[in-house]
Amino acid sequence: MSGVPLAIGTGCAKKEAVADKSMALMVVSDLDGTLLDHGDYSFDPVLPILDRMDEAGIPLVVNTSKTRAEWLAMRGDFGNEDPFIVENGSALCDGGDCEVFGTPREEILETLKPLRAKYRFKGYSDATIAEIMEWTGLGRQSAERSADRHYSEPLVWQDSEENEEEFCQLLEERGLTTLRGGRFLHVLGQTDKGKPLAYFRKGEAAIIALGDRPNDLAMLKAADIGVVIASPDGFVLEAEDVLRSTETGPRGWAEVMTQILDQLNIPQSTNG
Ligand SMILES: [Mg+2]
Repeated sequence: MSGVPLAIGTGCAKKEAVADKSMALMVVSDLDGTLLDHGDYSFDPVLPILDRMDEAGIPLVVNTSKTRAEWLAMRGDFGNEDPFIVENGSALCDGGDCEVFGTPREEILETLKPLRAKYRFKGYSDATIAEIMEWTGLGRQSAERSADRHYSEPLVWQDSEENEEEFCQLLEERGLTTLRGGRFLHVLGQTDKGKPLAYFRKGEAAIIALGDRPNDLAMLKAADIGVVIASPDGFVLEAEDVLRSTETGPRGWAEVMTQILDQLNIPQSTNG
């Protein structure tokens, strides 16, 4: 393969991996705080880039902690029909089919059952839609979509920090993984946002991945080019061999993607 090395800024040690115009590209992106503004969920800055990618035949694979129902309700706004990855790497969906990398939720709930006697927590499965609305600040329909989970269970932890550590350890011994989010402790199978990317490696595409939080690290690592999007709250994601945006959220996304597409000589959108 005679790839033209991509060198943007100074910190891109994976530059040998990528790529020239003849090589297929794929963009894999987190949603919240990356493609969507963390505060108001806006995404206007990315739309011209999505047009440009569309015309060049570069797919956008959304890789989110959200559910399938949540992304299906949103993706029309992005004009996106590409495959997508949901529930933190638990399933890769394409059309009506899903390739599962995680653990079915029923199994997760079975594993949690005996632990309820020892630890205090409340999960989505114990909650009414009204409670989920209260926890998340979502409206009813969005809360229903968020509750439509197949491979993970978000918990509100009501016990001590010490017990939380012990609980996570026990779940790990039982073949599950826990992820600490802002509001919830997420319980899922042995997967992460990077695992489904191996599936695409059967193809020949070079992967550009963009994310902003620790649950994106596995995805950034599995990509040919990892991009860290700056956070408005000043949080800095520690990662090696990545590109970094200076602007935050969708503006940062557009900033770095413009650099990359320019560098690879991908033509501007004619829809400009
Ligand atoms: Mg995020």
